[in-house]
Amino acid sequence: MPGEDVIERFRRTGALLEGHFVLSSGLHSSVYLQCALVLQHPRDAEWCGRQLAEHFRDENIQLVAAPAIGGLIIGHEVARALAARFIFTERENGKMTLRRGFFVRPGDKTLVVEDVVTTGGSTRETIAALQMSGANVVAAASIMDRSAGKAEVGVPRVSLATLDVPAVDPSVCEACARGELAVKPGSRKKE
Ligand SMILES: [Zn+2]
Repeated sequence: MPGEDVIERFRRTGALLEGHFVLSSGLHSSVYLQCALVLQHPRDAEWCGRQLAEHFRDENIQLVAAPAIGGLIIGHEVARALAARFIFTERENGKMTLRRGFFVRPGDKTLVVEDVVTTGGSTRETIAALQMSGANVVAAASIMDRSAGKAEVGVPRVSLATLDVPAVDPSVCEACARGELAVKPGSRKKE
């Protein structure tokens, strides 16, 4: 829908749920994000990509790189909007690497893109892998930031929306203390 903001798009597509959730980390939170549900709609994916690309319009980005799997769709859309090349990193024996013949030209002005930043860990690993290959990583971007803006990745970072929603150990979860059952949305059947 034209005029919708990013949070509205997430709500409409079920990519942002509010309640009492078990995250994949095992921590509990009142917000569950599943970016794949907004990105399953190419028009929403394209819109998110364009919005992020706007921040880098004048940066002459030559290469966009993303960690698989979460960064693939949004990274590709950002690259399309910037008319840049797109590559992705994958874990091999636990280490983020470039495979499949992907290469970096020395000094390529590179933007690293993810769907959601929580701790910034996979963005940092992706940046390190690209720098080792000779890339000049100038910035990082994500659709969502659920670190309340706190994640540091070593380069300037932007996101379309910032959430300040704690993820807590079940032993100190207030919803658990009220006796509310936590759900794991990924494993829930949808009617
Ligand atoms: Zn809980």
